[in-house]
Amino acid sequence: MTDKVVIITGGSRGIGRAAALKVAARGYKVVVGYASNEAAANEVVAAIEATNGKAIAVKCDVGSEADILALFKAADAFGPLGALVNNAGIVGPSIRVEDMTAERINRMMTVNVTGSMLCAREAVKRMSTKHGAKGGVIVNLSSVAAKLGSPNTYVDYAASKGAIDSFTVGLAQEVAAEGIRVVGIRPGLIDTEIHASGGEPDRAHRLAHNVPMKRVGTADEIANAIVWLLSDEASYITSSILDVSGGR
Ligand code: NAP
Repeated sequence: MTDKVVIITGGSRGIGRAAALKVAARGYKVVVGYASNEAAANEVVAAIEATNGKAIAVKCDVGSEADILALFKAADAFGPLGALVNNAGIVGPSIRVEDMTAERINRMMTVNVTGSMLCAREAVKRMSTKHGAKGGVIVNLSSVAAKLGSPNTYVDYAASKGAIDSFTVGLAQEVAAEGIRVVGIRPGLIDTEIHASGGEPDRAHRLAHNVPMKRVGTADEIANAIVWLLSDEASYITSSILDVSGGR
């Protein structure tokens, strides 16, 4: 058990929601970030409080630096920060690169890359022993798309996750001697609403036959990896990126 505060961006639905419930059960105080679905975020907080856990919901579009600063300010009032899960991420409708607008690509990069980097910046300021804090853990949600490239679907998304992988390694090296571990997770095809937001609700199930394990993964299966990487059981793991993808 721990009384550390963990911020989970995009903690209101999908993988972030599953992670919020699991880390709360381990005793973390959870800051549930959400972009717009206040009802979903409040439901996560209520579920945590129903089991005597502690959580708050904070609206934060990670595409906005002002929102990120407000998120961390709210977390500061909740207690000392012990961990960040950079989970918030978006996809777009399936199109080829030749049809992509600058607006689409910029939004993808702003949310998936700049948002994660700015959140990590704020977390390092609060967790580094260099700044008098006790250390902590940052978990970055990447995707197997970073390795596959997602041709004819969303190469921009895949490239954003490739950037997350490089960022994970670079930041991990930068702060390894300051008590902060930085790790990544590459989920495969996971059964969440992200596929519907990309215009294809059945995408994960349609492609399941391509997965060596012949099935989609669940948000809980990714959350289990998040919980483990956050824990002291993973105390010698940093700069590593774990595929949680059924072999994909
Ligand atoms: P999801 O079901 O679509 O949930 C997305 C969550 O992120 C929601 O809580 C949403 O908040 C929040 N969010 C969306 N845009 C945001 C923004 N601009 N700022 C802050 N929060 C935002 O997604 P998911 O499938 O759980 O994915 C979580 C992470 O795993 C993402 O980084 C994704 O790229 C990665 N991933 C997912 C899969 C998969 O197959 N599902 C595979 C590989 C990687 P609201 O509830 O307010 O909308």
